[in-house]
Amino acid sequence: MLEIANLSVAYGPIPALDNVTLAVGTGRIVALIGANGAGKSTLMRTVSGLQRPQAGTILFAGQYIQGAAPHDIVRRGVALCPEGRRVFPHLTVRENLVLGGYHRPKRELEGDLVRVYQLFPRLGERLRQRAGGLSGGEQQMLALGRALMSRPRLLLLDEPSLGLAPLLVQEVFKMLAQINREGTTMLLVEQNAVAALRLAHYGYLLENGRIILEGPSNRLLNDPMVQAAYLGG
Ligand code: ATP
Repeated sequence: MLEIANLSVAYGPIPALDNVTLAVGTGRIVALIGANGAGKSTLMRTVSGLQRPQAGTILFAGQYIQGAAPHDIVRRGVALCPEGRRVFPHLTVRENLVLGGYHRPKRELEGDLVRVYQLFPRLGERLRQRAGGLSGGEQQMLALGRALMSRPRLLLLDEPSLGLAPLLVQEVFKMLAQINREGTTMLLVEQNAVAALRLAHYGYLLENGRIILEGPSNRLLNDPMVQAAYLGG
């Protein structure tokens, strides 16, 4: 579904991604792991059209999307659930969700909302509450729900477990597994490498803007280098 080839991105003179090649097959969950500053968010932002690449191609569902506008990329079926949640704090839960589905046909809006409330009953109970008043975990769910409102074929998840208590991390990962079973392909960026690799089918390890290792998740989980660097030995 997604094929990234020889992608390079820089912020002025500072390189952030260097010749990255990566693929996500239809129906799969692929994890991208790496330390702070490795370039994970940059990759997500570039696929979403928020950052322009210096070189390389991004093929989504058979069409090149590198350099396309963010709203065009959303319309094609790619949704970003950004790091740090980034919900609109002054809008209500419902208003945040509706914004996620802004380009969808109006007549399907209610059905899409119901689907999100079924996945996240806690959001359904708080429709009129301002998003800024939700707990961290609830805001994370709202960000996920908002991304799902665009009915993405590919969901880009940037650190969905960031700042969540362990129990909530489990809950969010269970949700992700369910959303994937219902047909959404996922590229998952995580510092929580164990949880990410347990969920994913395949993984890539990014270091200083380069992919230094890739393979089926089980193999990465058992890789001595990955264990030493990311899994606490
Ligand atoms: P983290 O897990 O800490 O979010 P990351 O792997 O997502 O890290 P990026 O945020 O993609 O990493 O950053 C990659 C590199 O690009 C870093 O060296 C960072 O300092 C740099 N960088 C990121 N955003 C910008 C920016 N807007 N301007 C300049 N440099 C940036």
